[in-house]
Amino acid sequence: MNTTDRRTDDRRVNDRQVGGTHYRSTYQHWDVATDTLMRHLEGAATKYLARFGNKVGEPASKDLEKAAHYIEKLIDVAKFNLDFEPLSVIQVRAEIDPKPYMDRFIMGLTGAPAAEDNVAVLRTLGSWSTFVVCDIDNCLVDSLHRTSHYFNGDREKYMAAAKDDRVIPQGQFIYRAFYDRPGIVQLFVTSRGDSPVYRELTLRQLHDFVGPKVTTNQLLMRPPELYGLEKMSDEAYKQWAVTNAGYDLNDVWMAFDDRKPVVDMWRARGVVCYHTAVDAY
Ligand SMILES: [Mg+2]
Repeated sequence: MNTTDRRTDDRRVNDRQVGGTHYRSTYQHWDVATDTLMRHLEGAATKYLARFGNKVGEPASKDLEKAAHYIEKLIDVAKFNLDFEPLSVIQVRAEIDPKPYMDRFIMGLTGAPAAEDNVAVLRTLGSWSTFVVCDIDNCLVDSLHRTSHYFNGDREKYMAAAKDDRVIPQGQFIYRAFYDRPGIVQLFVTSRGDSPVYRELTLRQLHDFVGPKVTTNQLLMRPPELYGLEKMSDEAYKQWAVTNAGYDLNDVWMAFDDRKPVVDMWRARGVVCYHTAVDAY
């Protein structure tokens, strides 16, 4: 918009100042702010910078200090954003007393002693949790090089070949954004079969590709009795896995998967789910 035109249109507004005349100028700060689409913090900081020394009876340093205060806040916000915390819902939730939610978690876990470690993980994080359910194969790593083993019935070879998986950079980038974040617990829910060897292999991948603080409690794998699609579909298994670990499915906030039936399941539950690749295995 042409600023001169707008100032003409708004003359009556621009000609008034509530509480004085000392901030009058030909190009007023609020027009600068409007024309350059400033947001609140930039606007406030530059407003004080623009007018310091103009207010009679007040030291110039006072406005400069106010400007500095807003700039300080801007720096905080910039650091916060650069540090991959894009989740305003988490900020809002951070102000909510976590105790009732923790109580709900613990009550939900009564009678499930195996899940005590999971409670410990939540406590370590110091807040109630929002789960981000992360699939591994074809989300974080490319497993297509070994898919044929699975469908040829050689499940051992399929799992063992995981040691040669290459990381998917985009998957790594997004999973790292959620890694070790207060208020978020990443659950790595995979249809890989659970065994000491393959749990260690998978955990090593998570440590290498996501971060060293991923715990074994965050890794949910198919137990031997449920290993294989013929035993349970992926979409049923993933819900079962979360519940069986003592977590509440309603606390799943976001999910990533490459398998369309799983994506559809999460979405049907109201969970935002990102479909990472063509349905594969
Ligand atoms: Mg997958």
